[in-house]
Amino acid sequence: MFNPKRVIFEKNTLDTELGKAIYDKVCDNPSIEIIQTSSNKIKSNIPGDNLYEQYRSGKETLVVGEKKGLKFQTCKPSANYQLPLVSGCMGRCEYCYLNTQLGDKPFVKVFVNIDDILKKAKQYIDERLPEITIFEGAATSDPVPVEPYTNSLKKAIEFFAKEENGRFRFVTKYDDIDSLLDIKHNNHTEIRFSINTPKIIDAYEHHSASANKRIEAAIKVAKSGYKIGFIIAPVFLYDNWKEEYKNLIKSIKDKLPKEYNQKIMFEVISHRYTTKAKNTIMQIFPETTLPMQDDTRKFKYGQFGYGKYVYSKEQLQEMKEFFILEIEEAFPNSIIKYVI
Ligand code: SF4
Repeated sequence: MFNPKRVIFEKNTLDTELGKAIYDKVCDNPSIEIIQTSSNKIKSNIPGDNLYEQYRSGKETLVVGEKKGLKFQTCKPSANYQLPLVSGCMGRCEYCYLNTQLGDKPFVKVFVNIDDILKKAKQYIDERLPEITIFEGAATSDPVPVEPYTNSLKKAIEFFAKEENGRFRFVTKYDDIDSLLDIKHNNHTEIRFSINTPKIIDAYEHHSASANKRIEAAIKVAKSGYKIGFIIAPVFLYDNWKEEYKNLIKSIKDKLPKEYNQKIMFEVISHRYTTKAKNTIMQIFPETTLPMQDDTRKFKYGQFGYGKYVYSKEQLQEMKEFFILEIEEAFPNSIIKYVI
């Protein structure tokens, strides 16, 4: 669960039900600074003279705001639209895509007008009838560690349970999912867990839940009848990688109840980086040990026009064969969406 150092309430949010509820949760905590702004200039309330400091202060900040301009972004290929419940994440994963996306504003922002957001989702569903419309709840955030403050995922899951043509999915590296276990989801929500070997989590995924905690959370939601999936990412090819990723897959298998018979979705993504991401990472984590030596990688142009550094063709082939074999052996009933 997110334990912020400061909570910033944007204009008028303290007049809303959710704004008041969040205020009640944090107001008696002497280690949390509470700030009310009349303007919506958030950055001036977050200390830091450079990206290194702004990153750390931002990651300790929870902003309570209103989602304005309710036009949802598309979210190809995993869903039709993003569902904007939260933006930002308390985690400090060194390789995180949000480092470049959110720049010097890495704070976590939750939205008090969840009813408006879901009303808009309904409009998008109706526009696409009779097609099914899928919404992704973690496109620019990890929404789980703020769930104890907002209950937004719970509301969204209950909303989609009633929508014949709406589906919801999100991905997390956290385990604050207990409030989602006993609610009606109607099998319209898929919860994916992003996992990695303990070695990678310890080295690069700071302030996230351990691999075991994530797997235990996945088992809990599986037992509550949700569809579950695992994103093994980013995969690093280091000494002993095969044995450690094999153990990771085995620990899911060992913990999953034998009677769980839904298909588990696996997505496996190798580590890659862009020059822009590397430059940002070097400012935020100057001591990083992330393997980003350009001459050890292959440069590849991506579909969005910029290039990225990926593992070599031979390495990727070896990785692909390894994961397909191990996952199919451990979970014959799984769907391997891709190994890339
Ligand atoms: S948990 Fe996910 S969203 Fe959060 S910092 Fe890590 S990679 Fe980024």
